[in-house]
Amino acid sequence: VADRIWWRFILAVALAGLPGLPAMAQDAPQKTAEILAHKALSDDWSFKFLESLTSEIGPRLGGTEAEWRAADWAAARLKAAGMTVHTESFPMTAWLRGVETAAIVKPAPQRQAVVFRTYGDLLAAAPGSLNGKIAVVTERMVRTVDGMGYGLANPIRRQGASEAARRGAIAYLHRSLGTDNHRLAHAGALNYEDGVPKIPAAALANPDADQLERLSALGPVTVHVTLTPTTDENAHSITVVGEIKGREKPDEIVLIGAHLDSWDLGTGAIDDGAGDAIVSGVGRLIAALPQHPKRTVRIVLFGAEEMDFSDKAYETAHAGEVPKIVMAGETDFGARRVYEMRLPQGAASSPFGKMIAGLLPPLGVLLVPEAPRHGGSDIQDIGADGVPEVSLSQNGLDYFDIHHTADDTFDKVDPAELAQNVSVWAALTYLVAETGVDFRALANTAAKP
Ligand SMILES: [Zn+2]
Repeated sequence: VADRIWWRFILAVALAGLPGLPAMAQDAPQKTAEILAHKALSDDWSFKFLESLTSEIGPRLGGTEAEWRAADWAAARLKAAGMTVHTESFPMTAWLRGVETAAIVKPAPQRQAVVFRTYGDLLAAAPGSLNGKIAVVTERMVRTVDGMGYGLANPIRRQGASEAARRGAIAYLHRSLGTDNHRLAHAGALNYEDGVPKIPAAALANPDADQLERLSALGPVTVHVTLTPTTDENAHSITVVGEIKGREKPDEIVLIGAHLDSWDLGTGAIDDGAGDAIVSGVGRLIAALPQHPKRTVRIVLFGAEEMDFSDKAYETAHAGEVPKIVMAGETDFGARRVYEMRLPQGAASSPFGKMIAGLLPPLGVLLVPEAPRHGGSDIQDIGADGVPEVSLSQNGLDYFDIHHTADDTFDKVDPAELAQNVSVWAALTYLVAETGVDFRALANTAAKP
């Protein structure tokens, strides 16, 4: 021990006496970030967190008792991991699944189905042309590594029911937004347009959509659909927040989040239990440091994302705080490896960008110059209000094979890939909190000609 103290003393004297060494002080955050990133790679805390969430809580539809149980569970976990914890409740309309059947009953005298092979074909149909019919869209979403195929196919589910109703249809079926060939339907929210009849709508598993396509090529197809979901307009959801208070600038907030609610068919492992496990793991690692970073690190486990309430609820509750949120990031794209980092405009080429870029090669991540396309659905409203967004792109090639299906279960998650996510998020979150990088200022500078 004495030897080590001597060494430190000699080193300190030597460094103090050398010119041009302020760089030494700047290197300290990078060193700590590197240690955090390394530690995360061999840490199974997040994997165990996900195992417990998916086993002990399981599916957790927004606004239901299961989601509240998940919130209690998560609050206890974050607290045990060294964070200061509180919850935020907000009102919402809950959706509760009922009976769901669809049967091809041709040639019995049931509702005739009109099959459109593309969504564009449905949009091209004349008003009244679907009177009394069931509209079916069988367009298939395209598999891509970054999920772009899902984004582009989204209107088929989001707006298709109202577009069909506008043309006279009495029900709407569409091919699941999914890339698998399993006989499982992919759930997902839709938006009914005001002033248009709210007709029943449901997603078909890919093989069933194929079958309808083939039969419709042979002649008229009739289908009988039974859907009995209910809603509860007086429900509420709960968001769970864990914080590591900043030691110098506690009112400046570095926010990373994921959503705690899930669809009800699987156990919400890749969507988005994995995200919860990743950001909670980051919070735990940072909370365990010998000293808190300069800025506050805030871990947010959002409620009711799948039902579309999380972003607006958070923006409404935190409107006054927006200027003080210096960064927002979200992980909601499964548990596969991160391959790309995007920082706010102008940051990649800044000294901060160079600092983080130096940590990424061993983690297999590329820092690209482009700003994020979409930070995440929970943070999009505060992002629109000016909060700088970051994004880490994950390999999403097989994400939509199981997304929103009964197959979204814990066995799909690889512990090493999950740990790599924790590692990259930990390095980024810590560095933003410790260095005080000003993303808004960098974006302003970049915007000037
Ligand atoms: Zn999600």
